[in-house]
Amino acid sequence: MPAYQPEKLCPDCGSVLPRSAFYKKGKSKKDGKSYLTTRCKKCHKEWRKTENREYERKAIRRWRASNRERWNAYMRQWRKVHPGSDDYRKETYRQFNSRKGRGRIPREVWEQTLKAFDYSCAYCGTTDAPLCVDHFIPQSRDGDSSIANLVPACKSCNSTKNNRLPEDFLSLDDYSRVVKVLQTLMA
Ligand SMILES: [Zn+2]
Ligand SMILES: [Zn+2]
Repeated sequence: MPAYQPEKLCPDCGSVLPRSAFYKKGKSKKDGKSYLTTRCKKCHKEWRKTENREYERKAIRRWRASNRERWNAYMRQWRKVHPGSDDYRKETYRQFNSRKGRGRIPREVWEQTLKAFDYSCAYCGTTDAPLCVDHFIPQSRDGDSSIANLVPACKSCNSTKNNRLPEDFLSLDDYSRVVKVLQTLMA
């Protein structure tokens, strides 16, 4: 039994802190004593965030595995209510992953772009088609592959736009709408 220590080391931030800087855990079922958390309050919160995410993911996977039938029924229902969207999303990611021109665009950036544009074509707004990566300012016109220059576009808009500059392709309203979304991504 270690001697009572007024201070305790937090292994995450490496500081020696008073016991009040640690959370008290509920009384242990084994010996009825209450213990402090391993990490200080600040580090504990951070740790819970990442730990919980992992824990929840695992719990969801477990639930799905043991409720296969209910999950499948749920997905069937979901597809009925959202016709096409699941397939289009799959196709969108398949295209993205197989695209030669993906270059250095990381998946997280593409996710963020899709989310910002509500999984719809930045130009015509369709959600009923697979979306591909479009460079707002074409690469042939020195547009880069940063998040500020990427938009999701359906095949048809993508090929109509071709290597034109956005201002030569879009109405002023559409142009400023897209720019506004891109600005939120840069912030
Ligand atoms: Zn700490
Ligand atoms: Zn479109």
